[in-house]
Amino acid sequence: MSVVGLDVGSQSCYIAVARAGGIETIANEFSDRLGVCEGGWEEQITHANNTVSNFKRFHGRAFNDPFIQKEKENLSYDLVPLKNGGVGIKVMYMGEEHLFSVEQITAMLLTKLKETAENSLKKPVTDCVISVPSFFTDAERRSVLDAAQIVGLNCLRLMNDMTAVALNYGIYKQDLPSLDEKPRIVVFVDMGHSAFQVSACAFNKGKLKVLGTAFDPFLGGKNFDEKLVEHFCAEFKTKYKLDAKSKIRALLRLYQECEKLKKLMSSNSTDLPLNIECFMNDKDVSGKMNRSQFEELCAELLQKIEVPLYSLLEQTHLKVEDVSAVEIVGGATRIPAVKERIAKFFGKDISTTLNADEAVARGCALQVLSQLFREFSVTDAVPFPISLIWNHDSEDTEGVHEVFSRNHAAPFSKVLTFLRRGPFELEAFYSDPQGVPYPEAKIGRFVVQNVSAQKDGEKSRVKVKVRVNTHGIFTISTASMVEKVPTEENEMSSEADMECLNQRPPENPDTDKNVQQDNSEAGTQPQVQTDAQQTSQSPPSPELTSEENKIPDADKANEKKVDQPPEAKKPKIKVVNVELPIEANLVWQLGKDLLNMYIETEGKMIMQDKLEKERNDAKNAVEEYVYEFRDKLCGPYEKFICEQDHQNFLRLLTETEDWLYEEGEDQAKQAYVDKLEELMKIGTPVKVRFQEAEERPKMFEELGQRLQHYAKIAADFRNKDEKYNHIDESEMKKVEKSVNEVMEWMNNVMNAQAKKSLDQDPVVRAQEIKTKIKELNNTCEPVVTQPKPKIESPKLERTPNGPNIDKKEEDLEDKNNFGAEPPHQNGECYPNEKNSVNMDLD
Ligand code: ATP
Ligand code: MG
Repeated sequence: MSVVGLDVGSQSCYIAVARAGGIETIANEFSDRLGVCEGGWEEQITHANNTVSNFKRFHGRAFNDPFIQKEKENLSYDLVPLKNGGVGIKVMYMGEEHLFSVEQITAMLLTKLKETAENSLKKPVTDCVISVPSFFTDAERRSVLDAAQIVGLNCLRLMNDMTAVALNYGIYKQDLPSLDEKPRIVVFVDMGHSAFQVSACAFNKGKLKVLGTAFDPFLGGKNFDEKLVEHFCAEFKTKYKLDAKSKIRALLRLYQECEKLKKLMSSNSTDLPLNIECFMNDKDVSGKMNRSQFEELCAELLQKIEVPLYSLLEQTHLKVEDVSAVEIVGGATRIPAVKERIAKFFGKDISTTLNADEAVARGCALQVLSQLFREFSVTDAVPFPISLIWNHDSEDTEGVHEVFSRNHAAPFSKVLTFLRRGPFELEAFYSDPQGVPYPEAKIGRFVVQNVSAQKDGEKSRVKVKVRVNTHGIFTISTASMVEKVPTEENEMSSEADMECLNQRPPENPDTDKNVQQDNSEAGTQPQVQTDAQQTSQSPPSPELTSEENKIPDADKANEKKVDQPPEAKKPKIKVVNVELPIEANLVWQLGKDLLNMYIETEGKMIMQDKLEKERNDAKNAVEEYVYEFRDKLCGPYEKFICEQDHQNFLRLLTETEDWLYEEGEDQAKQAYVDKLEELMKIGTPVKVRFQEAEERPKMFEELGQRLQHYAKIAADFRNKDEKYNHIDESEMKKVEKSVNEVMEWMNNVMNAQAKKSLDQDPVVRAQEIKTKIKELNNTCEPVVTQPKPKIESPKLERTPNGPNIDKKEEDLEDKNNFGAEPPHQNGECYPNEKNSVNMDLD
């Protein structure tokens, strides 16, 4: 099984793969700067409005989202609204303008990453773990999952960037405190191209718990580039009277140079130049900057770094003294002033034990391994508090309940119990919208269907399981109605069983007030059953029942435990759990039809790309053939084609080259295949003649040696050589006959070949000579290598149990064969022996 970890960053993508021995990263040339023509900055500038970059943050957003509207201003490509109100990205594809959703664009990028991984692993990849910023809301996460689905990638988990980094750190730390010791607190900081994220994690051996995360979703390396661009735009306006912003190509080049300058300033504190030739209107521009000027220019950005750091300490109730280490990752943490700020805030040196670029991808891949080997348990944290709101059954008022507080452990399930006579609606929303970097607080609306009153007209007890799943997405995973079917025995006591199960009787069975409070919060609350693991955070009140659901099967097991009366008591009523359908209406959820259409389109595009690649390969093959042949025709092949054909062929090659740059520039694959065939019709015989002339003498040489060898043995036989006197005469005649025939054949073809010039097709192919050698060997070898029969030694009388003959002697005896020399081995030849055949050699 190979599972890949994918870090799809705003600027760079990394692929890590979990293999038997550990984690490896796979080199890849892609970033989320996805060009339909692929490539980096150079491509982006050349194909300015056809290279899509920085689209990661468009996931799960409406076109009229203020963030999209702001970003739209600075893009080199066009954004337009889609029919469903989503963000449409305009690009040229196969010579035509196309509109793609962000899911489709990310899917194209994932296709490239998948192919890169497959090429490196030499096997198909379907399972993956993809990282997302911890501040991604449900809509953004679902949108990324849809992108994975479009390319047929099975995303086992969407992993928060920081959790991946923490896991990477924890797995390789050998000296973590044991489970009964105080955990070690480590803070992780990631500053990438577009975001700043920080998390505090508690480590024990084999255990990682994310205590809290904080972020600035709009603070990254990109903002530092922007500051530089602004600075130089202003400078060039006064110095050269050039408005860089008026021309996208110039602006992109300036961005590129400013990013380079920014990176250089990380390792140099002296004045550094910025030069761009032919920037605009054929004018060259130049400027300079040093690190302290840069820090001054970016003071406001550097100031912002402390905000999430304070927020992290505040929400986790940690003090800087509690923090054992501060580990930094992400490209932009290489800026010295950024490092200094972080170090100063925590009052300690920062550590860089992880690979700053690959840490996220490695953590994603490790997630799979750690789960597989159950080496490391990871408990993540819910970044934003989530509440549910519902309508009361009989009154017009609403009930609200916070189901997951900020930094609540995740993944996690809770069971809420409602008393209802009919279907009802629940709405999930982020209860602290100010803290969520997304304009919509609503997560989704869920209708619990098929609810009915009990047979006796009483309200039904409906259990609703709410969950933050492994992707960090809120769901209502199941709902069930408890139907009580009275038996003939005492019904009252069975009612008591139910109450005993729920630990606290409803205050008023007729209204929502019977819905129990969770952790003594005020208001009308549903009864909540949560996880035992919670005890480490806050001890559960008596009415809370445990239920952790990391593994779906565990869900079911636990559910049974909750829903069934205690086994010790004899059941007096039958309790039946009826599964209820849930209709979910989620914010920015792609419809099934649309998703299917995207899947189909992606499939077609992959096919189209494959065809396009084949077409290009066919075209390149023609081009290569032209160049290679032209070279060789004036070199090694020259003698193997007659003067007239030589001239004609050279002319044809030049014509083909011209064709490739003119009308043959953009043809169907078949046109190139035909063209190559036409060239090969002339070229192949030349090439063959050349190759044959190289091979033929070697083959004749080999054949000659074999003939000599067998002829010599035949002559020795005739001369009654003791070596061969065990061979039957008739057998030896076969050898002689074969030698004579092959010799005659060889002399004939050699003579005929000698009359041919090099530009004529050969009389005999090297392969035919090879076949002759084989035939000769097949006939002669079995005869001449016949072993001499054994002759018993008169001296060594065997006494089976006699003490004097040991095994070694026996072996020796067999090998020595009493003085007879071993027969010639297959393929041996004796160049010094007298040649008994006449041969013409090439
Ligand atoms: P994100 O995580 O925000 O989506 P990302 O993962 O693609 O983005 P990284 O690859 O971690 O981002 O970092 C890229 C940023 O780091 C770029 O802005 C780049 O200019 C910056 N960067 C890289 N090396 C240096 C350096 N030596 N000095 C300063 N900045 C650097
Ligand atoms: Mg990143």
